[in-house]
Amino acid sequence: MSYKVYTVDNEKENRALRRKSKRVQNPQDPEMIILRQEMDRICNHPGVAGIAAPQLGKPVRIFALSGGIDTSGGVSNNKRRLPNLFFYNPRLIGYSSESTKSIEGCLSVPERGGYVDSPNEITIKWDCPSSFTCPAGVSGGKNHFHQYTFTGFHARAVRHEMDHLDGMIYIDHCEKVHTNQELEAMFEAAQAAEKVNPDDLMTVAEEATKSELEGMKKKRAPRKKKEPASTK
Ligand SMILES: [Zn+2]
Ligand SMILES: [Zn+2]
Repeated sequence: MSYKVYTVDNEKENRALRRKSKRVQNPQDPEMIILRQEMDRICNHPGVAGIAAPQLGKPVRIFALSGGIDTSGGVSNNKRRLPNLFFYNPRLIGYSSESTKSIEGCLSVPERGGYVDSPNEITIKWDCPSSFTCPAGVSGGKNHFHQYTFTGFHARAVRHEMDHLDGMIYIDHCEKVHTNQELEAMFEAAQAAEKVNPDDLMTVAEEATKSELEGMKKKRAPRKKKEPASTK
């Protein structure tokens, strides 16, 4: 089975996306396990940076970031993917007053993007259930938590996904939401003027388009070990 990604374009789905999600009580609940598998599958798709449970119509406080962050904060290269990271019941601990304006996209707002001012650093604390492999290698079968300070793009991704858990979407922070076509034209113009910020280009390509996801559903199992890097 696979879940549908809810979008703001559908009135009913938009209402669901705007709900505040509840704490996860039992990560071992069969429904929660299926949800985790589905989020994992979506994160494995090239171009997807992360997903939050409410985007799949499940109002629980879980989000995932696609592989690329190791526990020492390093970022993997494209050749060797790190496992996707799961965050259960994340709590905001703090964030930097310094922020950066950059483009964000969202699977729930297909084919669009917009500039969002987001903190350069964000610290959160989250539950790491005993039943799953701990990314930091904590063993002993105990429920525990992690606290970590994310920086740069990852800080933005964490803020974006945390927002989803409270029924917020990046477009709430934007003065203007652009279509992908408008963004491409803006980038071309900026490139021509040599004013392009490479970070913007990276960010806008971070979330796959809906059509890419649809394509993925059709050719799911068995999952390929390595997928070609998406050029969007
Ligand atoms: Zn999103
Ligand atoms: Zn852990």
